[in-house]
Amino acid sequence: MKFNESCSICSKKTDDGIHLLQVYICRTCEQEIVETPADDPKYQFFVQQMNKAHRSIIVS
Ligand SMILES: [Zn+2]
Repeated sequence: MKFNESCSICSKKTDDGIHLLQVYICRTCEQEIVETPADDPKYQFFVQQMNKAHRSIIVS
């Protein structure tokens, strides 16, 4: 099975990603998160997207 998961942040389908706290993110977003300082508003956006995705996993 390929491309069966999509990134929780950019919604791109890829098989080259990782699971972070059970949330699937692509390599591109992983790199962005790593390079974004925690006080950057963009970082808060990433955290929000991951929390949202994480919650939907628990609910379903
Ligand atoms: Zn992504």
